Amino acid sequence: MLLEVEDLHVEFRTRDGVARVLNGVSYHVSAGETLAVLGESGSGKSVTAQTIMGILDTPPAFVTGGSVRFHGEELLSASAERRRAVRAEGVAMIFQDALSALNPVFTVGFQIEEQLRLRRGMSRSQARARAIELLDLVRIPAARQRVREYPHQFSGGMRQRAMIAMALALDPEVLIADEPTTALDVTVQAQIMDLLAEIQRERRMGLVLITHDLGVVAEVADRIVVMYAGRIVEQADAVSLFRSPGHPYTAALMRSLPRLDSKGAALETIRGLPPSLLRIPSGCPFHPRCPRAEAVCAAVVPQDVRLGLGRTSACHFAEEVVGG
Ligand code: SF4
Ligand code: MG
Repeated sequence: MLLEVEDLHVEFRTRDGVARVLNGVSYHVSAGETLAVLGESGSGKSVTAQTIMGILDTPPAFVTGGSVRFHGEELLSASAERRRAVRAEGVAMIFQDALSALNPVFTVGFQIEEQLRLRRGMSRSQARARAIELLDLVRIPAARQRVREYPHQFSGGMRQRAMIAMALALDPEVLIADEPTTALDVTVQAQIMDLLAEIQRERRMGLVLITHDLGVVAEVADRIVVMYAGRIVEQADAVSLFRSPGHPYTAALMRSLPRLDSKGAALETIRGLPPSLLRIPSGCPFHPRCPRAEAVCAAVVPQDVRLGLGRTSACHFAEEVVGG
């Protein structure tokens, strides 16, 4: 297995108490596969990714249990140096906000070339040539000129492309993209998603696509995990999940999705707000918002119910929900 996260537990020890941010999260991604991680803000999607990348190891965040493995190698207990190496070469990450990920005082080219010189021992001119190739690859026009420009000289969409180029510089096997298109307008969003999907296919990378927007992943995801309050509530192949969601939360997300055939019809929004992680509701954490909840839901934490090959739902009524 390329990348596996198993039973990950993370807490934030804040002045107001302990926030249980991840409560036993497990997922995996294989070469050539696109895994979408879906959930509202605060569900733990980004924290899981940051734990994988080893950039969440400072207080108040504590990884209190679980495992992150890359090609079977445990990363959580690996040396800082080893983790840096894996992060640089094996697993790359791109973020929603390219402006804060790119360094404003260096040219885009320099930031790509620096990695190639440090980690690949390339000369200045080799690294420059490769940086231009990478900008070409992500379809930045006039790459030869733009390689000399600073991040602020790029439009939002072009900056996102530049960040993708930077992430690809060392040929990662896994790319984690955390809300990569959220800040962009709809047309540019679609272009960036197409680009990511194409690069993923050509390089047979594992792609972990983190998003709050089910619509964004509909066409590109092979598998989907749905997170709620620091847990995975459903995981399924994308086709099955779209055909018949196996968890009331997934069903609610789907009803809130704009549809081409519903011209102007009001969308249903999910009632209520995600819970505070300082006070996760008893039983099923979704019960205060769930249209299907019964008495048992507030009392008993639902276990994963197997709904098919690689398909689970953490709902007491999973079988009825998936059956419609
Ligand atoms: Fe809803 Fe109960 Fe299922 Fe939770 S366990 S999703 S509250 S029906
Ligand atoms: Mg996030």
